[in-house]
Amino acid sequence: MKQENIAIFPGSFDPITKGHESIVLRAMPLFDKIIVAIGENTSKKSMFPLEKRISWLKETFKQYEKVEIDSFNTLTVNYCKEKGAKYILRGLRNTMDYQYEMNIARINNELNPQVETIFILTKPEDAAISSSFVREIITFGGDVQKFIPKSINITQKDINHG
Ligand code: ADP
Repeated sequence: MKQENIAIFPGSFDPITKGHESIVLRAMPLFDKIIVAIGENTSKKSMFPLEKRISWLKETFKQYEKVEIDSFNTLTVNYCKEKGAKYILRGLRNTMDYQYEMNIARINNELNPQVETIFILTKPEDAAISSSFVREIITFGGDVQKFIPKSINITQKDINHG
């Protein structure tokens, strides 16, 4: 039986942006399944609660059978093993992303040589978008609709005040 090609797209998705959405849609023909997974093990404190971030991911990809949404709080390579995923999917916007991502990919490959990281280049129109800019705009009450997937809506009310 042919093994399923599964990729994990790990990230904070705090919140999901059009850039993230584009990476998943463009990677879709390469894999049988893409698990977009929120990693909770980072030292970063998120602006939006995990449940919100999950619900925005679910809404964004609801019409795609190949896309699953999940969260994890272990090493990414261990999570890959748990899910039977041989690929980690990441997006590259610029040389800063490249430098950073190259190191993570190498470390992950040391930790588990079975797992390969696959990079997809951002479209030029998405290259300036980041979750941190979106957070900044929302904090000051600006409109972020242009930068996030069409099917979702984010306002100041969604900020985690816990
Ligand atoms: P992390 O906290 O792991 O950096 P992010 O949610 O910020 O998580 O990003 C997840 C992945 O999406 C990373 O590979 C990042 O480079 C990529 N990414 C972030 N913003 C964009 C964008 N505008 N276009 C394409 N890829 C992006």
